[in-house]
Amino acid sequence: SDYQLNEINVTDTTCEFCAVGCRFDVYSKDGEILGTRPNPDKAPINGISTCVKGKFSHSYVNSDDRLTQPLVKEDGEFREASWDEALSRVAEGLDEIREEDGPNALSFVASSKATNEDNYVMQRFAREVIGTNNIDNCNRLCHSSTVSGLSSTFGFGAASVGMEALEETDCYLLTGSNTTEAHPVLATRIKQNVKDNDADLFVFDPRKVQIAEYADQYSRVEPGYDTTWLNGLTRYIIENDLHDEEFIEERTTGFEQIEETVQKFTPEFVEEKAGVPPEEIANAAETIANADSCVFGWTLGLTEHSHGTENIYAIANLALVTGHIGNPKSGVSPFRGQNNVQGGGGDMGPLPNNFPGYQPVADEENRQKFADAYDMDVEDMPDEEGYRLTDMFLAVGEDDLRGMFIQGENPVTSEPNSGHAKKALEELDFLAVQDIFLTETAEYADVVLPATSSMESNGTYASSTRHVQLVKRVIDPVGNAKPDWQITKELAAEFGYEWEYDHPSDIMDEVNDLVPIYGGVTHERLENLDDGDGLQWPVWDEDHPGTPYTYEDEFQTPSGLAHMHVCDTVDPSETPDDDYPLVMTSGRVLYQYHTGTMTFREEGDMSYNDRSFVEIHPDTAAEYGVSQDDMLRITSRHGETTAMAQLTTRPSEGEIFIPMHYLEGGANNLTKEEPLDGPARTPEYKVTDVQIALAADA
Ligand code: SF4
Repeated sequence: SDYQLNEINVTDTTCEFCAVGCRFDVYSKDGEILGTRPNPDKAPINGISTCVKGKFSHSYVNSDDRLTQPLVKEDGEFREASWDEALSRVAEGLDEIREEDGPNALSFVASSKATNEDNYVMQRFAREVIGTNNIDNCNRLCHSSTVSGLSSTFGFGAASVGMEALEETDCYLLTGSNTTEAHPVLATRIKQNVKDNDADLFVFDPRKVQIAEYADQYSRVEPGYDTTWLNGLTRYIIENDLHDEEFIEERTTGFEQIEETVQKFTPEFVEEKAGVPPEEIANAAETIANADSCVFGWTLGLTEHSHGTENIYAIANLALVTGHIGNPKSGVSPFRGQNNVQGGGGDMGPLPNNFPGYQPVADEENRQKFADAYDMDVEDMPDEEGYRLTDMFLAVGEDDLRGMFIQGENPVTSEPNSGHAKKALEELDFLAVQDIFLTETAEYADVVLPATSSMESNGTYASSTRHVQLVKRVIDPVGNAKPDWQITKELAAEFGYEWEYDHPSDIMDEVNDLVPIYGGVTHERLENLDDGDGLQWPVWDEDHPGTPYTYEDEFQTPSGLAHMHVCDTVDPSETPDDDYPLVMTSGRVLYQYHTGTMTFREEGDMSYNDRSFVEIHPDTAAEYGVSQDDMLRITSRHGETTAMAQLTTRPSEGEIFIPMHYLEGGANNLTKEEPLDGPARTPEYKVTDVQIALAADA
């Protein structure tokens, strides 16, 4: 702890909820979290701000429900076990399947909630100890299409700008982002810039989210038609000579093809398909193109589609044709949902196609580099890309995927089509789950391993804006819980591998050597940064200051140029018909976090949204004879659920909204496991055709 105040410990750490990356001091006493307070000296992103979750939602840490001892299942019931017994049961379970069907009969799900160091060792375990690239994480469900779209356009699968741009740009195009509820501190900054500096704000979204109240223009779009309105903007800009010819000529490839393929996205076509009137396209296009700077920001409303990667190409193309990228106040900014999905879920390589630092497993030089570091024969380093998370759930029972190790994820609630996810987990021959609570997913496990929460961990997280920041142990692990990296190290030892890590900083030292973008990131350096400074990757070496914004002179591609990609798919994979006449979208609410494992245990949060609900437009409600608070039975082509009606004009007529957090009454009882986005394999969570009926009549 940093200092003591009347026996109260005060420790600075990084918020464990969203990926804005707020930091604060945590006050604790005798192993109990008492509260938090932002400390601007150690908070480069948030300064004096935090949101309701960062401020109040930490009592889950001391919840009586915490897992404090390993559990093993016997005759269908869990009983407590020693760490020795539990770890050897996991090793046996994994080894038996590997012996019978090879390493690719196993798969590993790493955790975007866990630290960079936890995730790094998890990928090492899968590759070195087991011999498979079947490792992935929940980034597959959210921003994988962002990563695939941005990396193939610009080089890095991450935001190009930092907080300076987000706070000071002249113009914003926000889409598919309920910023106020999902990234509250960021939303405050945007609203401040709009209010104080008259920045222009354009919000395109099927649902009139709160930040739209602050917009110069809110455009309601049909769910699933994002390439259409985005290409419509690009077409308008080119047609009216508003594009940045010099930038396009000097820094990009592919413009001619884009110029040709956007032709079909005429104002009439955009209005017919995406529902955006021509004057709104013209106004947004002219303002964005003429602005001195512009930030293009988005969340999952843009990515969770069967052509999510094309949506990202479309917004990236818009940034390129306007030349709004590569300077301090202009660029692309995906807002990441989970605290460490950028770092742990991406940078650290728990990915089926990439080693840490986005270094492809298919490249022999990369395999050699990691094999040398792990002191293994390069022939033993798996070269075949592994299953993506969503494909893992399709492969169980079909393609001999028989065993799974899930670290800090709750796919029963988070995977598309909960019914399908449950069936897959039931069919596994062996399942180990490592978590802080006995989640709905852990109930299916053969062995459950108790991990530490963020407040009991040391390590680093990387924010949406590529800030790598320290996470510090505030209290000792509860009960016999252990940090994830330590559990993985001990599990490796069961297989005869002795890893020499005594502290997460040792793991980060190994990362420095192997991951160029983290080349100069060490715990020591992070601890000793000047007050309020952050360290944003790429940090090429110990003398490199970090990179607040990328692509100033060149893009991170072999040619140094950005590549525009064609993105002219129009329709989502399903469209309403007589049987399923309404469209459901899903999303977050302010007071809950992901599958609720943490916030459902927080009294304050539960006093707001303690159960699922369905938002429905009053005119649609009237059509179906629905009144406020009626229980509705909602049925899709993939499943059904029941939730309480909330009459509101946030969704448009013919559309409903259900939050993603809940298993009972939640959106993923209705979503589909296929089709998936081509390159990213992200599900189409945001477009599900449904019918509704009063539950009493159903
Ligand atoms: Fe934590 Fe995000 Fe809230 Fe900041 S905005 S306090 S990072 S949940």
